[in-house]
Amino acid sequence: MARVLAVTNQKGGVGKTTTVVNLAASLAEKGRRVLVVDLDPQANATMGSGVDKSQLEHTVYHLLIDAAPFDSVCCRSEAGGYDLLPANRDLAAAEVELVGVGQRETRLRAALATVKSGYDYILLDCPPALNLLTLNGLAAADGVIIPMQCEYYALEGLSDLVTTLRKMRGALNPGIDIVGLLRTMFDTRSTLAQQVSAQLTQHFGGKVFTTVIPRNVRLAEAPSYGLPVLAYDRAARGARAYLTLADELIARLETQAIPA
Ligand code: ADP
Ligand code: MG
Repeated sequence: MARVLAVTNQKGGVGKTTTVVNLAASLAEKGRRVLVVDLDPQANATMGSGVDKSQLEHTVYHLLIDAAPFDSVCCRSEAGGYDLLPANRDLAAAEVELVGVGQRETRLRAALATVKSGYDYILLDCPPALNLLTLNGLAAADGVIIPMQCEYYALEGLSDLVTTLRKMRGALNPGIDIVGLLRTMFDTRSTLAQQVSAQLTQHFGGKVFTTVIPRNVRLAEAPSYGLPVLAYDRAARGARAYLTLADELIARLETQAIPA
């Protein structure tokens, strides 16, 4: 049964989409069956997976409003080796249209329930807001991965997210937990990055992934070719970092604890 992981942080530009696309491709390379769900109307994960958002008949929007079944929305990222529920601007309307609808926060969870057994990992790319689309992601998820840049206001933003997760646990999704915090665009030479990183570890301990994603121009270039970095320049530091992250995630989630 798939582990559903929401990659989320209400801050924009922290590396959510880059993480979803490249972690998905890395997990696929390691033989895992992966589905990516693009929950952002900006559709960066869709384009970055090599799927043209302007050519789509159906998107995750249609799935959320029950206007199309999973099979007619799901497409393949050949470059990434994973399946994709794509998005485009239409998805912005879901926010408005779902307001008056029953179970509006659990539409995605319901839509994924029947296909979960066909995947090992389902990665959800959340928009940079704590809106209804993100809530659908958090309600559907078993765990969250929080990418963050180690800069001055990073920790402040995290407390809102931690509060939201606590509310989710109390109501919609009792089992949801933080799978890991991921330091992205990391510059080892920056004193500030080192300090924020130390504070992060102090506060969240083992929840912080050991793997750090370096700032790497290849990671920023790859999406303009519709490619994960593995298919663009697999020797790049960024490519190797996401492969290492996949190993760390697999070790965290697939190693069964031996009962005492
Ligand atoms: P988000 O989805 O959180 O808004 P993105 O993944 O789109 O963030 O990243 C924001 C920008 O930073 C993009 O232009 C992306 O290509 C770039 N970027 C992300 N991670 C890295 C990295 N490790 N090194 C260099 N550029 C990066
Ligand atoms: Mg994004």
